[in-house]
Amino acid sequence: MKIVMKFGGTSVGTGENIRHVADSVTQYSKKDYKVAVVVSALAGVTNSLLEIACQVKKSDEKQIDSFTKELLKKHLEAISTAITSKQLQKEVTLITEKTISELEKVLTGICYVGELTPKSKDYVASFGERLSAPIVSGAIRDHKFESQCFTGKEVGIVTDSNFGEANPLMNYTTHLIRERLGPLFEKGTIPVVTGFIAANQDGVVTTVGRGGSDYTATILGVALQVDEVWIWTDVDGIMTTDPKIVPAARMLPQLSYQEAAEMAIFGAKAMHPRALGPVIKENIPVRIRNTAHPENMGTLITKESATNETKPVKAVAMIKDVAMLNVNGTAMVGAPGSYAKVFDVLGKNGINVMMISTAVSEANISIIIKRALLGRAISNLEIALLERGGVISEVTSEDDVAVIAVMGANMKGTLGVASHIFNTVAKAGINIRMIAQGSSELNISFVVKEKDAVDVVRAIHNEFNLDKA
Ligand code: ADP
Ligand code: ASP
Ligand code: MG
Repeated sequence: MKIVMKFGGTSVGTGENIRHVADSVTQYSKKDYKVAVVVSALAGVTNSLLEIACQVKKSDEKQIDSFTKELLKKHLEAISTAITSKQLQKEVTLITEKTISELEKVLTGICYVGELTPKSKDYVASFGERLSAPIVSGAIRDHKFESQCFTGKEVGIVTDSNFGEANPLMNYTTHLIRERLGPLFEKGTIPVVTGFIAANQDGVVTTVGRGGSDYTATILGVALQVDEVWIWTDVDGIMTTDPKIVPAARMLPQLSYQEAAEMAIFGAKAMHPRALGPVIKENIPVRIRNTAHPENMGTLITKESATNETKPVKAVAMIKDVAMLNVNGTAMVGAPGSYAKVFDVLGKNGINVMMISTAVSEANISIIIKRALLGRAISNLEIALLERGGVISEVTSEDDVAVIAVMGANMKGTLGVASHIFNTVAKAGINIRMIAQGSSELNISFVVKEKDAVDVVRAIHNEFNLDKA
């Protein structure tokens, strides 16, 4: 069997956890599995890197020293627990020190220039995985297995220049990975590749979006033509909802690519929303598994949905950090192309539309976008379309909302699901701000105030007995 195994930040949070990762990878190698490892940054490191980058941009140079010292300490502690051989410890420590001193220079540069571009942000964010991968590879070598560590850029993951959310050029990437990693992988060396980071065609570091190590894993899986991609995390698999919200949430043993993608897009953080793209075409199964419970086989994601599932509603999720834009204008009524103008402005300004709803009267469009992009969206719509004779007369917004998505392939054609959902929300005394249902009928999504989102998720989970198979 050939497997790509991805370990998330939660699985490599400490030296002890890294040791456990090396144990399980080498256990599979002993059983003649060929394993390629993809690894995230140590838990919390990417967030802290992005925070410090924002702080030093404000010319606060003093913080750099204490930040890098703390980061070094954290990684040195991990090295001393994860690796026993003094020689290997020394080797990995040297790499770590060198990487952190490079980070120090980058942060100082940002501090002096006083500017943090999407390009430099990606460069800073890349240090988390650049620091974790050598430790994981060292821990595997400590178990007397051959291992070599690579950055996404080194293995040949080439993307466009959409910093922060870059898109891999799959054909070129596949070719390069096969060339650079294929022979080594086939002969049984365990490559450890940094998740999340890649490079554009000029070799400038890019990232494929937050949580993107899952994406790196499926890209590698396709290139190396593996039998399965395993995403190891801190929960048993994809669950009926976030177990942090509903502890009784149940693991879903099997999902179709379409169902799993839908869940990932609508906030099931257990997987990156775009991660399934590469494997769908090649029909490579993906499993979500719990590092702490390797005895469970987790959620299997394949072409087919579970055949014995009859419930119309399978899962419920929520997306926070979104905002609702309301674009109003009687001039939009009956005017062909007026919606196109609105979406054109948003698209040209790099604002992804997550959900829309319109009224038959056509005088209003409600649009859900990422909250961080709200200011940009409003100002650009106002500049482009609000002038005299423009198609819109007013743009309002709400930035304290959340999207709730209720999902399940069996909702298709089942009568009364929508009314049952909305009655449940009404019974909980919560007001719905906007509704959308795609014609695929795989999900019904709606918008509520963010303060009510957790209560809505709990009420729906409970009403539809999602904790029971
Ligand atoms: P990793 O560090 O392994 O990438 P993440 O934090 O990205 O882990 O994703 C795992 C987390 O996703 C879980 O701890 C869980 O709280 C959250 N989560 C949200 N919705 C779901 C869901 N439907 N099923 C499983 N996990 C979910
Ligand atoms: N370290 C990156 C992040 O926190 C990527 C990942 O964990 O998948 O977003
Ligand atoms: Mg993740």
